[in-house]
This record gives sequence, structure tokens and C-alpha cells, in this order.
Amino acid sequence: MIRVENLVYRYGSQGDPVLRGIDLEIKRGEYLAVIGPNGCGKTTLVKHLNGLLRPSEGTVLVDGMDTSEGRSLREIRRKVGMVFQNPEVQIVGMTVEEDVAFGPGNLGLPPEEIRRRVEEAISFVGLETHARRSPHDLSSGEQQLLAVAGVLAMAPDCIILDEPTTYLDPAGTRKVLDVVARLHLQGVTLVHITHYMDEIVETDRVVVMDRGRIALSGSPPEVFSEQDILLDLGLEIPSVTAFMKKLRQMGVPVDPRVLTVEDACREITRLLERRP
Ligand code: ADP
Repeated sequence: MIRVENLVYRYGSQGDPVLRGIDLEIKRGEYLAVIGPNGCGKTTLVKHLNGLLRPSEGTVLVDGMDTSEGRSLREIRRKVGMVFQNPEVQIVGMTVEEDVAFGPGNLGLPPEEIRRRVEEAISFVGLETHARRSPHDLSSGEQQLLAVAGVLAMAPDCIILDEPTTYLDPAGTRKVLDVVARLHLQGVTLVHITHYMDEIVETDRVVVMDRGRIALSGSPPEVFSEQDILLDLGLEIPSVTAFMKKLRQMGVPVDPRVLTVEDACREITRLLERRP
């Protein structure tokens, strides 16, 4: 769905590039996590995926459309929606309904179609009882769900989430991640920047960035088995993986690639059942 070829990007005409030759392919329906230390270029990269930034060198193609070509931008932005870190700055409407209607309204769709999309998007994220409220009266978690609904109402093929849970409490985080998981099941392509390692264990693939380049790419178990590289970059490993690593250091022969609580329970049960 998205193809990035030798992407180089500089803010301004001079200075060192922030992105230094990125090659990346994102398949339709894929759930991709992007991780890396602060300032390594994650946000700069994803802003290229819907044409908010245009490459200094190289190309970015979305469904075959080049983001450098102005005439494709409208369609590219409809296909690839973005949810940013701070939910409050994404609010554009006086009520939840109005806020969600903003995007489809701009597409010039018939009023019935707009209404249908707004209702569907609000119900998908579970904000039905808040439809007539002011977005500013919602919790941060609800505001982020509203941002997701606003993007959903555009019927995008791909949604980019740039650290969407940073300002949320655990309950808000859970709700947003639940919505993201359901979007994945529905076949929406997802690109999720995060610095919470526990958030990416369910993704299909993880890309690790370092100083404007891709340092590592693979499935979550593959990437988290490279613990030394991750620790060198100042990144954490998921808490379950850290626990399994500790057990292994203590002489318990568990598989160190285990990432989820369910798999850890299975692994430990397997060991206990083997005991004489
Ligand atoms: P990350 O998302 O990994 O934290 P960013 O893509 O936000 O990294 O930033 C990468 C680098 O680009 C950083 O050094 C940052 O200071 C710089 N940068 C980001 N936005 C701008 C901007 N608008 N103008 C100039 N430099 C910027």
C-alpha cells in the first residue's frame, strides 16, 4: 500500500538530513510499529506517508500515487489519516458529532452519507452517549477516541498513530488500544509510533529507527530477541520479555522470545508439567 524508496529529508535547505535513506514497504492490512529514541526521525518519517512532508530526495508512493505530486495530495490524505499525540489540539468541532463530521464534510459528500459515517464512526469508538457534548468536556482518552472517529469517518485505508497514548491514563490507553486492535481485525493498515514496548507485542512488524535510518525490522519476537541493540539505543523491552529474561538468567529454561502474558503462562505451565 505504501512504498518508501531511499527517502532523505532535511528541514530547511541546509544542514544534516533528519532522514538518511529510508526504504520501507507497508503492505495493505499490515499493523506496523515504529520505535526508536527521541529525535531519531519517527514523526518526520510518518508525516511523509500522507504528504504532510515531501521528500528532499527519494520517493514515497501511496497506492502508486507520488506524494510529491500536488494533484494526488487530496486523495492521499483521504486514504491515509493521522492521529497525533495530543488529543486536544485535534479538536475542530463544537460537539462530538460536529467534530467527526468535519472531515467527510470537506469531502463534499451528501448529507445522508455524512450522517451515516459520523454515526458509524462514533459508535465504533464507543462515544455514542457523548455525541452532543462539547469535545472539551471529554477526558483525554475520550478525546483521543474522538480523533480516531474523525479519521475513521474519512473511510481511510491506512491510519497513522503518532504516540496516541502519551497523555492518557491506563483506562484511556486500554480503550484506544482496543479500538486500534479492532481496526486491525477489519483490515485497516496501521502505522503506530510508540515508546511503550508493551503496546507493540500485538503488531505484525516492528521497525526500529536510529538517527534517521532503519536499524532493525522484523516481527516483534525477532526484534525483541535483539535485546543488546535495543538497550544500546536506550529502548526498553516488553515487561513480559524482561521477566522471561530474568527467569532464564536464574537458570529456568524458558523461551526468551515470549512477549505476551498468555504465552508466558503457557510457557511456565509447560515447564511445571514437565517436573517429576
Ligand atoms: P522523533 O519522532 O523520533 O522523536 P522527529 O521526527 O520529531 O523525531 O525529529 C527528528 C529530528 O528533526 C530532531 O532532531 C528534531 O529536532 C528535528 N525536527 C523535527 N521537526 C523539526 C522542524 N519543524 N524543524 C526543524 N527540525 C525539526
